[in-house]
Amino acid sequence: MGGIGIIRVSGPKARDIARLLFQPSKQIGDFKTHHLYHGNIVSPETGLAIDEVLMSLMTKPHSYTGEDVLEINCHGGFIILQTVLTEAVKAGARLAEPGEFTRRAFLNNRIDLSQAEAIFDMITAKTEAGLKLAISQFKGDLAGKIGTIHSAIIDLLAMLEVSIDFSDEDVELTDASEMADILQSIVCDLQTLVSTYREGKIYREGISAVITGRTNVGKSSLLNRLLGEKRAIVTPLPGTTRDFIEETANVRGIPVRLTDTAGIRKPENLAEKEGIDLVREKLLSADIVIAVFDGSEALTSEDIEIVKENRGKKLLLVINKADLPHVLNDGELRQLLTGVIPPPLRISAKYGDGISELKDSIHALILTHPCDHLPNHIITNIRHKTAMEKTSAFLSKAEKNLRRGLSPEFAAFDVREALDCLGEITGKTTNEEVLDRIFSTFCIGK
Ligand code: GDP
Repeated sequence: MGGIGIIRVSGPKARDIARLLFQPSKQIGDFKTHHLYHGNIVSPETGLAIDEVLMSLMTKPHSYTGEDVLEINCHGGFIILQTVLTEAVKAGARLAEPGEFTRRAFLNNRIDLSQAEAIFDMITAKTEAGLKLAISQFKGDLAGKIGTIHSAIIDLLAMLEVSIDFSDEDVELTDASEMADILQSIVCDLQTLVSTYREGKIYREGISAVITGRTNVGKSSLLNRLLGEKRAIVTPLPGTTRDFIEETANVRGIPVRLTDTAGIRKPENLAEKEGIDLVREKLLSADIVIAVFDGSEALTSEDIEIVKENRGKKLLLVINKADLPHVLNDGELRQLLTGVIPPPLRISAKYGDGISELKDSIHALILTHPCDHLPNHIITNIRHKTAMEKTSAFLSKAEKNLRRGLSPEFAAFDVREALDCLGEITGKTTNEEVLDRIFSTFCIGK
């Protein structure tokens, strides 16, 4: 159920379906494109109105899919939408596959493949920073950069082909070492892009952080603070959090999947043992570990054990309850760790002190650029990264062969392969199987 629900029809029969099902509230001629009409959807068989709607027709090519698109804005009730959908199917439509509207937009050259993928990323973005990256990709920033690289490769291929075709004639040819230099600089450009992937992936998919510490140090309170809402139950009784709670918080633009654990203590029963085993697994796979200590108490053997268990991980030490008199010996805590780790942070999960600094520390531990200073082009998609790596490998091979003095024909062959690989990003050279895989992740109706 929702405020409104939209039935969307795309294809050559869209206008006929509109004519058949829609009864305007006042006399109109033929539907004008991009106009909103008020009226009823009426069953052609019974003549009965199914819903009072707003309807629009967007004629090709100026529509989402590049085909005629009909959108019927119904009241958002399940039965209403199902009935209107059934009538549309009876009138000649068929149910859409997941992502089929976007797939058609791609097939009709409205957008390229990287833009289609960006639509998915926009819908699933977990933070504003992630959304910003997706929008930039949708606007064609990545496609533009790929286009520039593509033309540089085409120019180079032309030089190579001239040297193949006219090698015996008196034509001025670019020499092999110059062409190898050009290849090297294109490879360098590609590698710079590839190197942004780690960061891009973090903004798109996020990281996992496990909050650990003995019971009652304030782990659940910290989780709630970071989430900005009450999610975990906080009580003064030890062991309230039975196994673990997972929620995603936005930490300076990074989606951080926080796991609040029950702390690793001696299990008292089987259920607790299983919970603790799961916590250990979570700790092993976590991108970062936030170890919480109670600043109002002296360090316990359990605290020491927790630090030792997490040595070697990306670890943040957090001393909680900064609002109470400080008892814990920070030096003792730091001695447990060697190497460069951020100094312990004093916070009060209960009152919010130090939380902003903690968010900065989480961000700094994971990323080098602040989220408002991202590089111009940043890639977030593994498919793009792989295609760039393949492109780069073929170009490097061509470069080496030119430097070794092999005939330019060999280099030209590899450069053509490189172009194919690069074309996979925007969909110039993508096969059906890849398209199926990409669009099957979309929801139906998008
Ligand atoms: P957990 O068992 O580690 O998850 O700890 P909880 O978050 O359930 O907190 C245990 C107790 O410590 C509760 O009574 C909290 O209100 C209290 N507590 C948590 N953080 C702070 C803090 O920053 N200052 C003070 N004074 N008490 C806190």
